[in-house]
Amino acid sequence: MKLKGIGVSPGIAHGRIYRPGESGEPRPETYVPGTPSEEQARLSAASAELAARLNKAADTRRRQGETETADILEVHALMAADPELLQSAEREIAAGHDAPAAVLAAAEEQAARLESLKDDYLRERAADVRDIGRSLVRTLTGGEETLPEGPLLITGQEISPELLGELPAGRLAGVLLGGGSATVHAAILAKARGIPAVAGLGAALDQLKEGMTALMDGNAGTVNTAPTAADIAAAETAVIAARREAEKQREWAGVSAITRDGVKIRLFANASVAAEVKAAMDAGAEGIGLLRSEFLFFGRDTLPDEEEQYRAYRAAVEAAGGKPCAIRTLDVGGDKPLKALPLPREENPFLGQRAIRVSLARPGLFRTQLRAILRAGAAGPVSILLPMVTDASEVVAAREHIAACCHDLQRAGISFAENVPLGVMVETPAAALLASSLGKHCDFFSLGTNDLTQYALAADRSNPAMAGLGDYLHPAVLRLIGFTVQGGGEAGIPVSVCGEMAADPLAAPLLLALGVSDLSLAPAAFPRVKRAVCRITMPEARALLESAMNMPTAAAVRDFLQSKLPE
Ligand code: PEP
Ligand code: MG
Repeated sequence: MKLKGIGVSPGIAHGRIYRPGESGEPRPETYVPGTPSEEQARLSAASAELAARLNKAADTRRRQGETETADILEVHALMAADPELLQSAEREIAAGHDAPAAVLAAAEEQAARLESLKDDYLRERAADVRDIGRSLVRTLTGGEETLPEGPLLITGQEISPELLGELPAGRLAGVLLGGGSATVHAAILAKARGIPAVAGLGAALDQLKEGMTALMDGNAGTVNTAPTAADIAAAETAVIAARREAEKQREWAGVSAITRDGVKIRLFANASVAAEVKAAMDAGAEGIGLLRSEFLFFGRDTLPDEEEQYRAYRAAVEAAGGKPCAIRTLDVGGDKPLKALPLPREENPFLGQRAIRVSLARPGLFRTQLRAILRAGAAGPVSILLPMVTDASEVVAAREHIAACCHDLQRAGISFAENVPLGVMVETPAAALLASSLGKHCDFFSLGTNDLTQYALAADRSNPAMAGLGDYLHPAVLRLIGFTVQGGGEAGIPVSVCGEMAADPLAAPLLLALGVSDLSLAPAAFPRVKRAVCRITMPEARALLESAMNMPTAAAVRDFLQSKLPE
């Protein structure tokens, strides 16, 4: 049997299905109720025990640098000792119920109340309250479950963060979720711990029975319950390759990208959530050059409010551990539609309501995000990056919104970062050609070569038929990058590249010779880009660039570089 969901944390795992506490109430028949006062005492003891266990798990995670998991576990510890929940359970006990039944009823009542509220964040906390109720019952009844043997694929419609946080290290091989998307806590935590995860399996999840063996693929989003020997062998090979890749990553983590004649290019990382930021720091990133904030907005019916955004950005900033973090404002539209923000249908969405245009047309949405970023800036160095700018008017308008947000936060006495650097994504030919004037209005440029290439070459990046045409090594794209670096130089601001081109070792010498100071890329590509930079000199890089610039096509440039820079 093969199930298909969405891959939300990469990697392959082979193990046994483990379905914690899903067979109805986590309440064994063997529970013997005491008198009401004994039940009250058992409830207080269970609450204290669970809170202590969660705090202990939080401490362990924090020591291991998993701040995000630790924060969540601490919040759950507070919830386990929540006086309101306990008082409501005590009333149930006084009305004649035993402690497990009382706690489930109290949690259900609180969850239902949360679900009826307008605030999205509070509504979403209902699932957490139910989790706490179940955990309290397990603690009360001593109902620790016996785990299946060997590596575990933890499976459930929803899986609570504490279950993931508490499972013994080394036993948890994968996470399979019926609901959710890449943004549910379980998926984020799985990613933070480098554990493969598949979400969105829906009702098909019921076919996965406790103890069954299965092979899951967190890249493809699949689960196979009857893998052949060849499937398992291929998976094992992939696991070994991933381990080697991780080793390579560690070997290169302490090495800087410096040419043989001593010119350094700084390597930053692209990320979407705090867990990726942490992994990037472990891989030796000098900071986050592009935090794609839209990740927080995907796969949900309502927009995240300021508080939720603030928490997400602050977690990213904290994970960067004092290194700079460039948070890009919402880049939706084009190939990134949002369920929570329906945009009008357009004939050419890539040329329509997208990115900064969406933000400037909706000041409420924009300012909510800006305030959240500015507040996160109080936790560490942040900058704001504007996507898809075409001229200075957009930057000026954005600055006015930022100034208004600073003013509001100041008046409200909320702490925030002042003078946050403002960067422009240079990803339209217009921005590249106007770089010298745009540079007067911002503090840095970041070249979005994915879009710059599609707009310069009129080659839709989401159309597979255009894949051959949309090559960033095209001499026209190289020239646009040259304009941008020149404009940045005139304005005295740094220029980085954060599109996929930054991860291509063939492009590295050209970007060095063009005068790009920083690259921002997926950390997985750090070793190969560092290697490409470390083996060249600037005169060699300049000679390659000069030849490439004068070639007629991208194919000619690619062939030429491949012949000069063999793997
Ligand atoms: C780019 O366009 O190069 C870029 C980094 O932004 P995105 O891929 O998110 O559009
Ligand atoms: Mg882009």
